[in-house]
Amino acid sequence: MNVNELVTAELARLEESKTFKYETALQSAQGGVVKVGGKEAVMLASNNYLGMSNHPAVKRAALDGLKKYGYGLASVRFLTGTQTIHLELEKQISKFLKTEDTILFSSSFAANVAFFAALTNEKLGFENYRDVIYSDRLNHASIIDGQRLCRPESTDKKIYNHCDVADLERQLEEDKTKAYRIRMIATDGVFSMEGDLAPLPKIVELARNYSALLFVDDAHGIGVCGKTGRGTAEHHRVLGSIDVYSGTLGKAIGGAAGGFLSGSVELISYMRQKARPYIFSNSLPPAIVCATMEAFRLLNTDKSIVRRLHENTAYFRKEIQALGFKILEGIHPIVPVMLGEAAIAQEMSTQLLKAGVYIKGLWYPVVPKGEARLRAQISAAHTRKDLDRALEAFEKVGKKMKIIS
Ligand SMILES: *Cc1c(COP(=O)(O)O)cnc(C)c1O
Repeated sequence: MNVNELVTAELARLEESKTFKYETALQSAQGGVVKVGGKEAVMLASNNYLGMSNHPAVKRAALDGLKKYGYGLASVRFLTGTQTIHLELEKQISKFLKTEDTILFSSSFAANVAFFAALTNEKLGFENYRDVIYSDRLNHASIIDGQRLCRPESTDKKIYNHCDVADLERQLEEDKTKAYRIRMIATDGVFSMEGDLAPLPKIVELARNYSALLFVDDAHGIGVCGKTGRGTAEHHRVLGSIDVYSGTLGKAIGGAAGGFLSGSVELISYMRQKARPYIFSNSLPPAIVCATMEAFRLLNTDKSIVRRLHENTAYFRKEIQALGFKILEGIHPIVPVMLGEAAIAQEMSTQLLKAGVYIKGLWYPVVPKGEARLRAQISAAHTRKDLDRALEAFEKVGKKMKIIS
């Protein structure tokens, strides 16, 4: 079979089912306002929550890191890929999250792919064993792929309904008397399609009651949620009760690349020995390491950054509703504007770009049928004027399309 023909048919099918992912090239740096097709647009579709992507101090730190420590290490961590700055950043992250230790990865995707298999595929002194992982139905693709690497002959993979702690509890109770070696609960801190937060207080309680390890991927939470940006756990006042965090350096904290796992000394030491995407893949480039440290430093010292993100989010949520749009209620800067039919979301996103707003739509099969939406993402990089410009465009296009009156 000719492979080009095979994939061409699939590409056509994606086009037909409106799931083909088009890429729009920015002509500027990431920011509150970007340049697209020669025109300015308010950016409502990036994870640049804190405006660090193009922050002068972050860029300066990257340049300084480049000058002092070079472009790259040409090595993995355990050969010659560890510089003092890598260790410093790991310490800084542990301190920030109030964990014991942290291990850096090239991305959070890599961290998630590493984590589950590194534990479940090792005998750890057992000849026969079974592990079980309970996973939220809407967990990120990288968690799903990470769990795919766990051998089915020794790992039970169970899905609980989205944020449904009763369903989770029912499954934990059902398995209570089974002789599992490791029990694990895995959840996103914030779910990116809905902008909703995992019910961590109850999940923490269940993890304790059923002796399960609690894994929280807080990619959209760290730097975003909580008064000091420590994430979903800070928002829910359970900071210090999460066994393992996965986090990204590619969203709020810098926005370039990189990820990490953070947890107990023992678990992180173990990951350095067993996490394959860590052992067999290059260490993070110095420019990124130094820029990330500066991003954390800024977050720690300038309280106005997170505050501005929270104020901008509250403002946008209030005003977009005042215009008559239906949104999913919440507190997160991910604001889903619900439109119903996919065609309407597609048309509206096109019209909004013409009106100077960059925003992306989500529709079936990414979200349930009839729940097509535009997903706005608010940033500390937005000025009030940027948000007002975006809201005006929403009003104009919304009226023209008769979505609001
Ligand atoms: C974005 C995201 C990731 C991937 O992060 P990268 O560092 O870009 O690989 C992982 N998990 C969740 C929940 C995410 O939202």
